[in-house]
Amino acid sequence: MTSIAHHLEHTRARIASACAAARRDPQAVTLLAVSKTFGADAVREAHAAGQRAFGENYVQEALDKIAALAELRAQLEWHLIGPLQSNKTRVVAEAFDWVHSVDRLKIAERLSAQRPPQLAPLQVCLQVNVSGEASKSGVAPGEVAALARAVARLPGLRLRGLMSIPEPAEGFEAQRAPHRRLRALLDELNAEGLALDTLSMGMSADLEAAVAEGATLVRIGTAIFGGRSYPAAQPAA
Ligand SMILES: *Cc1c(COP(=O)(O)O)cnc(C)c1O
Repeated sequence: MTSIAHHLEHTRARIASACAAARRDPQAVTLLAVSKTFGADAVREAHAAGQRAFGENYVQEALDKIAALAELRAQLEWHLIGPLQSNKTRVVAEAFDWVHSVDRLKIAERLSAQRPPQLAPLQVCLQVNVSGEASKSGVAPGEVAALARAVARLPGLRLRGLMSIPEPAEGFEAQRAPHRRLRALLDELNAEGLALDTLSMGMSADLEAAVAEGATLVRIGTAIFGGRSYPAAQPAA
């Protein structure tokens, strides 16, 4: 077994035991393998081990990988989880299946208008700034409802839920708090009549805390592919 296959198996086991502890069905948690900074061969290896959904942060890097893996396109699901600037929306609308990082109506409107009509609607999550750090992207919790109502009306998109990248925290209880806030926001939106089914939260270090609070999709990079070394000249996403 390759090390990626081994790490995938270990990660699936972590999800299964977190679900058992929370009395949740493990089928209700999707594993998104975050392949940023790793090459097409790593994705191929994960695919051979049964992985289908992949997350990328940098648009150009992702487009190169998607092109290199064109023969597997129908079997793979590509998720953009990194920041998105308006000059990149067209290529993203054409190439990806999901975008988790929508935090402005203007970006959502462009993605909707630019989604090719022969493709299924682009699946989107709104990124919420649950930790309130000035430097991080994401819509403020108080502004989520208005943005969600507007995005839900766009024909080229299907609003699925919320995503967050909380400030790193040590310990299970500290890790749970921001995930609990995101879940409460999703519950509020659903109580208003939106039918949202996705909570994209939890990374390698806080997967268990996220599953305990209801994550339906965990974004795992390091635990599957190993540590990342960022190239010195990473082009802006
Ligand atoms: C890199 C990244 C991840 C994966 O993080 P790991 O700690 O390597 O599991 C998840 N979500 C987002 C938005 C990321 O940028």
